[in-house]
Amino acid sequence: MTKVQLKGVRKDFGAFTAISQIDLDINSGELVALLGPSGCGKTTTLRMIAGLEVPTYGHILFDDDDVSEVPVQDRQVGMVFQRYALFPHMTVEKNVMFGLKVRGTPKAEIEERLEEILDVVQLQQFRHRFPAQLSGGQMQRVAIARTLITKPSVLMMDEPLANLDTKLRGEMRRFIRELQQRLGITTIFVTHDQIEAMELADRVAVIFDGKLAQYDAPDALYQRPNSVEIADFMGANNIFAAQISASGLATAAFGTLQLDRDIVTVREGAGRILLRSEAIDLLLEEPDGENVIEGTVEGREFFGATVNYTVTCGGEIITVNEQSRRLVEVGQKVWLRIEPRHIWAIRDDA
Ligand code: ATP
Repeated sequence: MTKVQLKGVRKDFGAFTAISQIDLDINSGELVALLGPSGCGKTTTLRMIAGLEVPTYGHILFDDDDVSEVPVQDRQVGMVFQRYALFPHMTVEKNVMFGLKVRGTPKAEIEERLEEILDVVQLQQFRHRFPAQLSGGQMQRVAIARTLITKPSVLMMDEPLANLDTKLRGEMRRFIRELQQRLGITTIFVTHDQIEAMELADRVAVIFDGKLAQYDAPDALYQRPNSVEIADFMGANNIFAAQISASGLATAAFGTLQLDRDIVTVREGAGRILLRSEAIDLLLEEPDGENVIEGTVEGREFFGATVNYTVTCGGEIITVNEQSRRLVEVGQKVWLRIEPRHIWAIRDDA
């Protein structure tokens, strides 16, 4: 198990700065997702950690040793890519053994590790097949096995599930998570899909425009984003301009909401408030108490298990997400209630 640190890392390609400054600590055995939109610098960051690129400035440490200039073959990292890059003329077991063979590992050891790894990735029954005879998920498991058999100290995955359909992606995510936890291998996973990042990772590093925008556990990132840009990227749909007072009141176009004390102390002034759509109660009768907003259901999107309502409130549209145990009609007058702890405030100058 290896701890990975990036200290003041920058990467220029000629006059273009791909990464302007990144500091990142990845604990031993942790799974960290690098998340961000296309072109933000995720792959470049991963390639520097792997040793495929050298940082222009800054340092990369593995267990406190500076490896910034150590080439990829001496770093003991394993890489899995979106394209599986399996050898088409080799069977599953030959593909998996390949890395050890070229290193000259003794035959007995290769065979022992092969059995172990085929069990781990559940590919025993496919060992004599060729890649063309496998499904996408099976091919990706071969690619993972081929990497794991070399016993890397850090596992890197660059959009490994991008070629798979939705259902298989879900299965492979659970497979990777379970495998990673069982082996306790430090893993860095690149994705542009926020759901994938939240589902898989212990911590998520959000990268925007070559900078680390936030580094947090999935729930913290989702519930307490540092900026409106991050909230938006994480899928927030209720972001409203508000004036936040020292006493903890947020005044928006649809009314005034009481905020949680802890939020207020640092958030006074002009800002935005974030109402998590799944934390809003949709009521058909006016309740007593504070943090109630009156509105009318304007639209309904049915997703099966859950349903989204768009509710017009004082000229703004608030989205409410709830279980579809009941269905409320469009045109219905409703009251929305949200507890202070489910409201997050961001200052405009944050
Ligand atoms: P994607 O999700 O599309 O793969 P990414 O976040 O992984 O994107 P990178 O591949 O790290 O992004 O690229 C970051 C920026 O650096 C991009 O603008 C890219 O064009 C640029 N870049 C990457 N590699 C090079 C290179 N070798 N030479 C010049 N520019 C590069």
